[in-house]
Amino acid sequence: MVAAGSGTRFGGPKQYTELGGRRLVDWALDAARRACDGVVLVAPPDRPDHDPAADHTVPGGATRSASVRCGLEAVPADAPVVVVHDAARPLAPPELFDAVIEAVEAGADGAVPGVLVADTLRRVEGGVLDRDGVVAVQTPQAFRADALRRAHEGDPDATDDATLVEAAGGRVVVVEGDRRNLKVTDPTDLELVRALLP
Ligand code: C5P
Repeated sequence: MVAAGSGTRFGGPKQYTELGGRRLVDWALDAARRACDGVVLVAPPDRPDHDPAADHTVPGGATRSASVRCGLEAVPADAPVVVVHDAARPLAPPELFDAVIEAVEAGADGAVPGVLVADTLRRVEGGVLDRDGVVAVQTPQAFRADALRRAHEGDPDATDDATLVEAAGGRVVVVEGDRRNLKVTDPTDLELVRALLP
């Protein structure tokens, strides 16, 4: 669970905002605990205290990818599948974790939730992008542990881990995502998430 972002666009560490009586990160941790055998929380370096909702708490790095690597170091070496999830997505249901894990257990190197894009996509400089066959990719993302560890060798950076696993030659499949699985990026997103909380 990567929760080490500083929330530059949000104006603070959004994952620690309270919503529905719990912090955003607690909603995400709860779903992860239900679906996974163990949870590593990657926390901001200035919040290094162990979080009782996780099995391990480790400080994160300067980028999301660096934070994933910090978390990977605390994942037991014999864990066959690793799931990476953004704490900024408090509404991911445990079933979505199950779906990506199952896709990896069925033979993929990685599995990501994807939702069809409803809007027309246009480059700001002009030119509409073809939306056919395009999905917006969410987390949780599941990977064969060795494929994820190999993809992070050399400390590469990307906005998600599937990009790195694919760049390293892995096969990533898309499972059906969940439209409610919003990512809290700016304060308006919190209003939407509040309306969707169970
Ligand atoms: O910044 P962004 O919205 O891409 O962050 C996605 C997730 O990655 C968030 O849960 C955030 O806390 C986490 N992150 C991190 N370490 C960073 C940057 C982002 O754990 N240095």
